[in-house]
Amino acid sequence: MTEEHIICKNCILVNGFLGISINDQGLCNFCSDPTYVNPNWSKVQISPERREWALNDWNEVVEDMQDNHNSSQYDCIIGYSGGKDSTALVDTFISEYRLNPFLVTIDTGFMTEVAKENIKKTLAKMNLFKNHIFIDATVSTFIKLYKFHFFHHRSNEKSLTVNICHICTDLIHTIVVKEAIKRSIPYVIIGFSPDQIARYFYETIPFDVIRDGTPYDQFKAILDDTDMNWYLTSEEIEANLPRVLYPYHVIDYNEREIITQIEEKKLIEIGKGDPVLTNCHVVKAALLYDMYRYGGITYALQYAELIRQEEDKEARRKSRKDWLRLYKQIGKSILNGTFNMEGMGIFFRKLGISKEGLLENIIYQRIQDPNFSQIIKNIDLMMSNKLR
Ligand SMILES: [Zn+2]
Repeated sequence: MTEEHIICKNCILVNGFLGISINDQGLCNFCSDPTYVNPNWSKVQISPERREWALNDWNEVVEDMQDNHNSSQYDCIIGYSGGKDSTALVDTFISEYRLNPFLVTIDTGFMTEVAKENIKKTLAKMNLFKNHIFIDATVSTFIKLYKFHFFHHRSNEKSLTVNICHICTDLIHTIVVKEAIKRSIPYVIIGFSPDQIARYFYETIPFDVIRDGTPYDQFKAILDDTDMNWYLTSEEIEANLPRVLYPYHVIDYNEREIITQIEEKKLIEIGKGDPVLTNCHVVKAALLYDMYRYGGITYALQYAELIRQEEDKEARRKSRKDWLRLYKQIGKSILNGTFNMEGMGIFFRKLGISKEGLLENIIYQRIQDPNFSQIIKNIDLMMSNKLR
């Protein structure tokens, strides 16, 4: 293989990163085969029939909530993070659907100040303080969860970033589901955007709600009774579980319009809806882990998909150039220690671990990886600006 074939010439995926390889034509698995799936990324295709069914169902759910509006205190629970999507969802439920949602915010220990300010501002503006609870007794359990997974991640194929995001989301959603059961509220609404369909489209069915609400054995072994309080009990599993729904998967969604909508109504301050500001430090620490462990930036899988979606050749070329620049920038800043420095400091402090300790563990895992030499090569190329 020649030097030009390190990066896919159509997207930005790098040879040897998380099972990806570049062929003789200079194309990665995803660009050469549209049906290719990888444990960290697969393009989920939703058929028009399934989409239509889900939209009809959503319209019926809204009607059902409206019909029963006067017979119950709250019509649904919204998982409320203070980000743009959940804020806009709260506004839609109140202003458009004329419903009365109960809002639940779960603190993982890594909520940003921006998200907290957004919540205060929205609750004040819409007079919703009585509709809201902020649960922060959860923090110590989340810290355990992160610490466990950062030190017990054992895979040569699946990235920590993808894994930790799923495991953390599962617990957040489980705690919201428990609140719904406790209050006999039949619907849990989550503001996942249309691209967040890696695992669930429109709804998480009860089977998966139960599985996601149960810790797996190896992790359970380190949990005490207080931690277990945040997972589903056998009584709750036997009770009537609420339906867990993602309406943005089926109703109109435009990121720019959503931000404008909540900024104009002064629900959040201008500029505070930027996902970068509300993104969590845990994901960024997982990106650091993956860079050292697998030799690349896991977000590249998403960036690459955005590039492939550009139909116009010139637009695709430009998009590739921009994303590749960002890819190298993030990679280099991780390796030279300047990436999200404040956030990283907070992360290591809260977990009570050191960066050196984590790196030591990564190096130990990496040396046992059959792809070891390629990983080291990719890290060296990134460091010496020779990745092209
Ligand atoms: Zn490619």
